[in-house]
Amino acid sequence: MAHEFVYTANPARILFGPGSQARIADEIRRLACRRALVLSTPSRRDAALALQARLGELSVGVFSEAAMHTPVAVTERAMAAFAQVEADCVVALGGGSTVGLAKAIAHRNDAPQIVVATTYAGSEVTPILGQTENGLKTTIRGPDILPEVVIYDAELTLDLPPAISVTSGLNAMAHAVEGLYARDRNPLTGLMAVAGLESLQRALPAIVARPHDLEARSDALYGAWLCGSVLGSVGMSLHHKLCHTLGGSFDLPHAETHAILLPHTAAYNARAAADVLAPAARLFGGDLGGGLHDFAAGLGAPLALEALGMRESDLDRAAELAVMNPYWNPRPIERHAIRELLGRAWRGERPA
Ligand code: NAD
Repeated sequence: MAHEFVYTANPARILFGPGSQARIADEIRRLACRRALVLSTPSRRDAALALQARLGELSVGVFSEAAMHTPVAVTERAMAAFAQVEADCVVALGGGSTVGLAKAIAHRNDAPQIVVATTYAGSEVTPILGQTENGLKTTIRGPDILPEVVIYDAELTLDLPPAISVTSGLNAMAHAVEGLYARDRNPLTGLMAVAGLESLQRALPAIVARPHDLEARSDALYGAWLCGSVLGSVGMSLHHKLCHTLGGSFDLPHAETHAILLPHTAAYNARAAADVLAPAARLFGGDLGGGLHDFAAGLGAPLALEALGMRESDLDRAAELAVMNPYWNPRPIERHAIRELLGRAWRGERPA
């Protein structure tokens, strides 16, 4: 029998399936909008321009300066572009960086958001916005931040480089693993987490072997949706705290940091959360931390924080920061054990 729980659904409309980008125009009209500003990162500007051309008169411009961690200065330029072309909604084409910009705009002017997700980070289904200003990252939540419509079209992800696919997929899996032991977990987030892990466990090796495999790409997007939905519904713990610390204070890249730390944080919590982690552990051969490490290694994922440019001399400070204002975690956060965890992750060793 299920224990007592609270589940608050995030009310987004999801359109899933290869070719579903053909429905963006209808979705803009459904939102009673007529003038979309298309958003992307600089490297995806051509794809954004092509999307704008497909939308015809429903799109009034492209803003292609989206950047990691949603810098407020970029959002301010995007707000000016939005006003200049008299846009009435945004269409974000990309991963967490582009979705972050759409959310930041919506948070300021309540513009409806249609997100066409092309990585596996999961941000498109969360009411969470992390933005940076003067080197400080702040996180806000709110119903205005959650995108109204999300489109998952695997055809638009065929060119996502395998290396980014892998780290982004492991980023999604981290949402699911932490969701399994979240203090505010519920039966539905548990089902989504395990199904999301299964999809990504199946999809990522297939994508590495055949990057243009549409079925594997769809499977990965399905897993990303489920794992992102878990992130949007329950609280995160040690893993996300460590990633935020390393990203914020040592400027480490988002998805790679998640990919490297996941086996270690899963191992750290393995005993304290053994019952709720059991379905995930079974997927990875019984030992979740070791199994995730072998899985990541087999995909060619980065394994060592050293390879991301982190200095060994920063590990003590990182451990200190990580134990300050800790998030709730199933196992107490002990400075010595966290320092040890970080040391292993820095060297790229299999978790203890
Ligand atoms: P990203 O959005 O920066 O994308 C990574 C790279 O992949 C970029 O250069 C991008 O242009 C490129 N790319 C994206 N789609 C592509 C495609 N189809 N083909 C080729 N290249 C493509 O990275 P990300 O990992 O998706 O997102 C990271 C950001 O998202 C971070 O700022 C993180 O904090 C944020 N995030 C937020 C949440 C949330 O709920 N608020 C959740 C997860 C991540």
